[in-house]
Amino acid sequence: MNDRILNFSAGPATLPEEVLRDAQEALWQLGSTGIGVMEHSHRGGPFKAVAKEAEAACRKLAGIPDDYAVLFLQGGASTQFFQLPAHWLADDATADYLITGSWSVKAAKEAVRYGTVHEAASTKDRDFNIIPRADEIQYSDSPTYVHFTSNNTIFGTQWQEEPAAPGEAWLACDASSDVFSRPVDISRYGVLYAGAQKNLGPSGVTLVIVRRDLVDAPVRDLPTMLRYATHAEQGSLYNTPPTFGIYVMGRVFRWIAEQGGLEGMAKRNREKGQILYDALEAQDFYSCTAGEGSRSLMNVTFRTPNPELDAAFVKQAEAAGLSGLKGHRSVGGMRASIYNAFPKEGCEVLASFLRDFAAKQG
Ligand SMILES: *Cc1c(COP(=O)(O)O)cnc(C)c1O
Repeated sequence: MNDRILNFSAGPATLPEEVLRDAQEALWQLGSTGIGVMEHSHRGGPFKAVAKEAEAACRKLAGIPDDYAVLFLQGGASTQFFQLPAHWLADDATADYLITGSWSVKAAKEAVRYGTVHEAASTKDRDFNIIPRADEIQYSDSPTYVHFTSNNTIFGTQWQEEPAAPGEAWLACDASSDVFSRPVDISRYGVLYAGAQKNLGPSGVTLVIVRRDLVDAPVRDLPTMLRYATHAEQGSLYNTPPTFGIYVMGRVFRWIAEQGGLEGMAKRNREKGQILYDALEAQDFYSCTAGEGSRSLMNVTFRTPNPELDAAFVKQAEAAGLSGLKGHRSVGGMRASIYNAFPKEGCEVLASFLRDFAAKQG
């Protein structure tokens, strides 16, 4: 038996139970070192091995080419919003941003400090309930990069595939809420970053995968700690890194590999999403807030016929052991966050709750 309930939180979010059990042990003692993982010096052999193993597992899992650096940084995805343009958006250059939700808005807002930001597409006029079609995207003449948010955590929309960047431009992606949920061709990206707390581990560590030629060519002088090169040269051990977070991330990478890798994750996530979308579609009572073809397999957003019933839904779900279903305040309704680690059985429990709740309202 198990005293944990179903946690649909948007982040920090559910982690694999095997990883949590492993982390419990490692907190007490890492391997047979007699010292817990949080208490080890980041300069010592045991932790260096942890960091090395995490990086190797990450590279293997996503097939990351050698000409990319894999960094474990701090400051969350929100720090990447400025660290990235500070590196590569020159004063007289333009970066194109695809605006698909609050996080892309925030990312673009930081880039404006450094150079010109061109909104190549925005779905704000449709309440961000959709991903723009290819023919709705209008790139500037020669953007340095194209930034997009692969999964819009708040609105429950997800790019089904990467946008095609024009000319020499490289893709920059905030993949915080769907990283490693499906196969990814890293060679299409200049930078892909993700805060760990949705799909990869605890908060406090950010995964940054970045092309080495870009690391070596920032367009302005930056403080040591903000330079990607500082961290790339030191294997993310320039200063004290978030050691525990890196440990857990490494275990999550291993767990994903054991589930069949990114292909296995994609299959599992498709099945999970289908259970919920099918249950929602089967009842006129519910409406999905995201448009068909744009729906996220990570955050499933929906409503009942009115806000009073939404509130009753959330309350009764909570009482039934289904936690964290309240939608983001800017969208309302409900949001079921079902990241990689969220179990398929949990989706079945919610599907059955959806049916029962609708039946009761008759
Ligand atoms: C959660 C989230 C963020 C914010 O990440 P922090 O690590 O809190 O800075 C940014 N982008 C997306 C897509 C997110 O889901």
